[in-house]
Amino acid sequence: MKTSDIISQAKKEGRKALLETEAKNICMEYGIPVTKFELAKTETDAVKSAETIGFPIVLKIVSPDIIHKSDVGGVIVGIKSATEVRDAYRKIMENVKKHDPKARIEGMLIQEMAPSGTEVIVGSIKDPQFGPALMFGLGGVFVEVLKDVTFRIAPITEDEAEEMICEVKAYPLLRGYRNNPPADIRAIVKVLMSTSKLIMDHMEIKELDLNPIMVYEKGAKTVDARIILE
Ligand code: ADP
Ligand code: MG
Repeated sequence: MKTSDIISQAKKEGRKALLETEAKNICMEYGIPVTKFELAKTETDAVKSAETIGFPIVLKIVSPDIIHKSDVGGVIVGIKSATEVRDAYRKIMENVKKHDPKARIEGMLIQEMAPSGTEVIVGSIKDPQFGPALMFGLGGVFVEVLKDVTFRIAPITEDEAEEMICEVKAYPLLRGYRNNPPADIRAIVKVLMSTSKLIMDHMEIKELDLNPIMVYEKGAKTVDARIILE
């Protein structure tokens, strides 16, 4: 489905938060790299998908009622076998039911487990005065505790994307230190440019959150994507 179809479908159903599958399909249309994924409705299908994608995999709950999946025990990483897929499937269902017995469940997302890299966050918000704006920061404590983030009004130029990356305090970590090789800055610039285009093309997007994006020596991969509509 195309981005505009995904958005109108959600609107028709009265949903403001897109599912991770929908948000990642939108990312793919805009050339933002995401982890491979398949949606399964049963344990057996989950095992099949895991075998197609290849171990290790990650299992995540897909529900229009759950926005922060790990807060409800809805994410299990590092699954290495069919037996572990079945166990994780049941465990996540149990966790979610305990937390919110009425949550509607679309199924379970099976996804490729991205190797760890430098975690960055690309986001967007809507400024009441200036409209859509882009956010950039490094993952984890840098954003959550230190608020080490930077903003630009969209659309941005490539120069502005580079400026955003260079101006966070944690930038030296992206340039590499000790045994850690430098991260692929060009790949981050591309994600920022694509996100800028996406939010300009679709003004119905109120908030977007690619959190985290794993950045490697070569390339990057979005592990979680969230989109909220007006
Ligand atoms: P939440 O809705 O809680 O933000 P996420 O999809 O971001 O859920 O998953 C929580 C954490 O699990 C991520 O921040 C990341 O560290 C890890 N994770 C999730 N998906 C993957 C993946 N495909 N590969 C590697 N790690 C992942
Ligand atoms: Mg997340």
